[in-house]
Amino acid sequence: MRYYSTRSRGEPVSFAGAVLTGLAPDGGLFIPEEIPRYRDAVKASLGTMDFGDIAFETIKPFVHPEIPDPVLEDLVHSAYPFTAPLVRVGDRQVLELFHGPTAAFKDFGARFMARAFSYLRRGEDKPLRILVATSGDTGGAVADGFYGIPGISVTVLYPKGRVSPLQERQIAGLGGNISALAVEGSFDDCQRLVKAAFGDESLKKRFPLSSANSINVARLIPQGVYYAAAAGKAFTGSVHEDGEATPREKAAERPVPSGGKEGKFRVAPGQPITFCVPSGNFGNLTAGLYAQKMGAPIRLFIAATNINKTVPDYLASGNYEARPSQATISNAMDVGAPSNFERMAAQWSLEELRGMIRGVFVTDDETRRAIATVHETLGYFLDPHGAVGWEGADKLWDQKLLDEGPLAVLATAHPAKFGETVEPLAGKIPLPPSLTEALGRLPHAQTIPADISALIAAL
Ligand SMILES: *Cc1c(COP(=O)(O)O)cnc(C)c1O
Repeated sequence: MRYYSTRSRGEPVSFAGAVLTGLAPDGGLFIPEEIPRYRDAVKASLGTMDFGDIAFETIKPFVHPEIPDPVLEDLVHSAYPFTAPLVRVGDRQVLELFHGPTAAFKDFGARFMARAFSYLRRGEDKPLRILVATSGDTGGAVADGFYGIPGISVTVLYPKGRVSPLQERQIAGLGGNISALAVEGSFDDCQRLVKAAFGDESLKKRFPLSSANSINVARLIPQGVYYAAAAGKAFTGSVHEDGEATPREKAAERPVPSGGKEGKFRVAPGQPITFCVPSGNFGNLTAGLYAQKMGAPIRLFIAATNINKTVPDYLASGNYEARPSQATISNAMDVGAPSNFERMAAQWSLEELRGMIRGVFVTDDETRRAIATVHETLGYFLDPHGAVGWEGADKLWDQKLLDEGPLAVLATAHPAKFGETVEPLAGKIPLPPSLTEALGRLPHAQTIPADISALIAAL
């Protein structure tokens, strides 16, 4: 596959070129020259194939021929010892994306990316520096994914005081080839600093630099896998009625309350599904659009944001206006200038996007109410991001902007990652082992002002 910049149809680059440079030389993001399609045989068996095999089939055309099939086969199986269960919760499905080592969906992208980098740089002797800005979950997933990978070091920039104590330990607690910078500013400042570092000629002479943000195609592409797997399962009518691995309280488990609307979002064989995607930088949603174009049975996407609602506003008005980010309880989505919007806009017109995506935003009060109500009535713990998705679907339904039909909310993080928000509303959440281990680490970060010379000095 060849990749172009979102800003010009000039010289294409290879998959390796796109992955290792991160950002195109003209400042654009790399997009594939075409979106491939699943073979008919694969399309027909998405509902029954094993997760690793769907990963192989989904990623292969994007990396062919640079990553040979047997290498890709090993790579996806070692990246994904966990899966993404589709579980029924009340009147709808939840796609649980938090069963990886850092308990957030970013593990899917980061673990593939670390292995792809390592393969593409085999035989190089100059160590690679990866710079990554995080609003919380990216940093932990990237740190964990790259930890201990020889020839690569990672520097994570995060907004000081705006990530949870657990996230801080996941980012700054590993040491080794992972270092952490606590930036006195917002996530947008961190992102701006990383962009400025990429534009700095003196830095580029000192060491090869790359990014690991969701702008990198190596993170984006594998995120299509769980959409295809879940859409396939829904299309054959198969969902987990009760996941052992889900944070559902057995004692509180109750039947779905009876009433008119119940079952409106249930799966039914032969019906394509709607995904409600809690969104910040829009990497996750962009990957979903790719999976749909590849042929996964997906009806519609809902872009659910917190009050950082740049994209829902764009879909409503047709005007794109980036803004400074505002802090919310779903802090991994506090993004006022979503970087993947450039990708969406380069590949689809406003009318096309309106046909594929419905936008909605959710306030912190509504998010808290959803966490409390879903726990109270269904015994299920939502994290603040998943709760934005849950509530977003309800808001669209109440405004009569959504039809009946199968719907899955993406649960992008384990609720225990945001215990300080969720527990006062829903009670004690059992901690998964990966998070217990992370909590025991000591964070070591250097604090810097939000200023490019401070970043350069720290590097
Ligand atoms: C990163 C993140 C999001 C937002 O994903 P984007 O791809 O940036 O839209 C949502 N929820 C959680 C928990 C996240 O970590």
